[in-house]
Amino acid sequence: MNLILFGPPGVGKGTQAERLRDTYTLHHISTGDILRVAVKEGTKLGVEARRYMDSGGLVPDEVIIGMVAEVLEKDKKEKKGFLLDGFPRTEDQARALDKIFRKLEIKDVVVVSLDAPEPELIARLVKRGKESGRSDDTEETIRYRLKVYHKQTSPVLDYYKQRKKVRAIDGLGKIDEITKRINTAVKEFA
Ligand code: AMP
Repeated sequence: MNLILFGPPGVGKGTQAERLRDTYTLHHISTGDILRVAVKEGTKLGVEARRYMDSGGLVPDEVIIGMVAEVLEKDKKEKKGFLLDGFPRTEDQARALDKIFRKLEIKDVVVVSLDAPEPELIARLVKRGKESGRSDDTEETIRYRLKVYHKQTSPVLDYYKQRKKVRAIDGLGKIDEITKRINTAVKEFA
């Protein structure tokens, strides 16, 4: 089983991804995490990505698609299913991912789409910003990231509804409750 965890910033993708990774022994790939490591290490990718991340915009498709293709091709040998978190975020990324999946002969893909009302997302991100010091979790950047999500990322869901199995999950509630909802939805594919 391969999972794409989809949803707006602050909906809990990272938290739920860690749990799914352990339950189904998946290989968790978070593009945000990979980019933050690159920024910290000051690599060429990190220096380029930082400009976009700090403002809350998306890193250009050609940069991110190349990065993901490299990781997926390298890690396919591990023979674990993939759990993608934070990718794809544009229709071009989704199309590129389909191509990579075809090349790697990956067919079983389920999209888990989490959602929650916007005031809740903002409250969660502001709280995370205070606790973790993540530089893009300031109120102004959060609002911009949500705008970017609605404009560029949410159309990806329609792309998938026409092509893949999509399971919509209510992301509002206790973390354990949300995990239970996801597990119930994906169990039939595991
Ligand atoms: P995240 O941790 O998923 O919220 O990602 C943090 C930031 O990394 C985003 O606001 C983007 O600037 C960048 N980023 C992560 N994933 C992607 C992606 N798939 N496409 C473009 N930019 C991305």
